[in-house]
Amino acid sequence: MTLSGVKCTVANCKYHSQGDACSASNIEVNIDGGGQSAQASRETNCKTFITK
Ligand code: SF4
Repeated sequence: MTLSGVKCTVANCKYHSQGDACSASNIEVNIDGGGQSAQASRETNCKTFITK
């Protein structure tokens, strides 16, 4: 089962699945460096990532 509507290209993540899907039960996305306000998408990242 994968997260509907989530596309992820991080191929070396334990949860990465065929078709650029994510098989985690949920994900957490935070801002690089902390805080609650990002200025651009590149400042955000998935904290649920685990190396394969
Ligand atoms: S946990 Fe995050 S990095 Fe890993 S496949 Fe899912 S969305 Fe991508």
